[in-house]
Amino acid sequence: MKVIFHQRFYEVYTTDPAAAPGRMEPMVKALEKEFEFVEPGPTSERDIERVHGRNHIQSVKRDLQVYEVGILAAGGAILAAEMAFEGEPAFGLIRPPGHHASPHSCWGFCYFNNIAIAIKKLLSEGKIKAALILDFDLHYGDGTSNTFDGFPSISYFHPEGTRGEEFLQQVERCLQTERPYDIIAISAGFDRHEEDWGGLLKTEDYFAIGKWAKEASIERCQGRRFCVLEGGYNHSFLGRNVKSFLQGLSD
Ligand SMILES: [Zn+2]
Repeated sequence: MKVIFHQRFYEVYTTDPAAAPGRMEPMVKALEKEFEFVEPGPTSERDIERVHGRNHIQSVKRDLQVYEVGILAAGGAILAAEMAFEGEPAFGLIRPPGHHASPHSCWGFCYFNNIAIAIKKLLSEGKIKAALILDFDLHYGDGTSNTFDGFPSISYFHPEGTRGEEFLQQVERCLQTERPYDIIAISAGFDRHEEDWGGLLKTEDYFAIGKWAKEASIERCQGRRFCVLEGGYNHSFLGRNVKSFLQGLSD
């Protein structure tokens, strides 16, 4: 399991909670002893254009810092997907997040849809035909869902539930979908934790989700699995939650 990270993800590029100072540090600290870190390069505009329209890209470019960090985040998601395709699971410890970025608009602290850009790249290169996207962030990834609207080979799942048990059952069920998939991509948002905005999941629940995703990937798609960071705002719990999830997901 590799962790994809770039120093520029420490930057406070806007005033929103995803870009808040001190958000990445506890996750880096929790992971750096256990996992090898790899630095991504920026993605190309061509890769972004597979998901986003030109006008949207131009509007993000108006803030050069956001654009520069954004293409590094998308580059990180692509690197994680490529590593996973080659057989090594990977986690993109990236920001800004992406799942609220649709082809022609964005909101919710997102600019470019990192996970969609990564999946579209693998599709365009003919490496995969189908994918399962599991999004366990508190919020529905409308951007990801909109991007793959009309792509029956890409299954997007966003489990919901008012009780932890109910939520976890839905996670298990979506991994068991009858639709085939060549890779599992996970939008990993930690804002559903009991000490975060969603107030639901325990730290060990993230371990279980990671473990089930690992097992499903081994059974269904040669172990190919990658994930990227989405939300998660309680800095005091992010480190332990991300670590728990990756310990479940790694071999
Ligand atoms: Zn969220």
